[in-house]
Amino acid sequence: MRKIIIAGNWKMNKTVSEAVSLVKELKGLVKDIKDREIVVCPSFTSLVSVAAEIKSSNISLGAQNMHFEKKGTFTGEISPLMLKDIVDYVIIGHSERRHVFGEDDSLINKKVKSALENKLKPIFCVGETLEEREAGKTEKIVMGQIKNGLNGVKDIKNVVIAYEPVWAIGTGKTATPEQAEEVHSFIRGLLKEIFNEKVADEMRILYGGSVKPDNIKGLISKENIDGALVGGASLDAKSFFEVVKC
Ligand code: PEP
Repeated sequence: MRKIIIAGNWKMNKTVSEAVSLVKELKGLVKDIKDREIVVCPSFTSLVSVAAEIKSSNISLGAQNMHFEKKGTFTGEISPLMLKDIVDYVIIGHSERRHVFGEDDSLINKKVKSALENKLKPIFCVGETLEEREAGKTEKIVMGQIKNGLNGVKDIKNVVIAYEPVWAIGTGKTATPEQAEEVHSFIRGLLKEIFNEKVADEMRILYGGSVKPDNIKGLISKENIDGALVGGASLDAKSFFEVVKC
């Protein structure tokens, strides 16, 4: 049985005090939920304060990005060593990192490996653009991202994959449950080919892209969808709670 994960990606939103008050409200709402993992990913500046607020709660913490080196002359970057005592998860290869900040598969692969070496669990994101989908290249693109991004990864059981079609992120256009399931099932088959059946069976594959309280039920009912990475709807405690309850 794969435990559902609902993760909130707060992106570049919320000051420290806003982040703490959001998670405080969320903590109260979700306190009785035990059968799924709840993760929030605030910006770096709020991690320590949010970590203190959710101590001994059923909410886990994630970062939105990291550098692959442990330390060095990388002005403005945050290393896995700085994160490992604060967070459990780290989002890697989010489409905004790929498309706005030019991160490629080889850099993302270094980050995934570095996260695992430092005992952080990567939420490794993949997904095609609208142009690629319309050209019938969805599987080819996702396959390339997975093969390259997970190349040489040993501790694969600690990886979570998020399938996030770029055309659905922050656009209000969700993939239908059928469209999402088609890609999730393709990814699971690919994991069986690259790794083995056990890895494929146990891997949590989250869907992301305009997930909201009113569309999560259809998505989560699909066999190969094991949760969600939620952007916009995670910025409000009540709407994130509705998604978490799904
Ligand atoms: C995301 O940031 O990963 C995301 C899926 O955003 P949204 O839910 O706003 O589309």
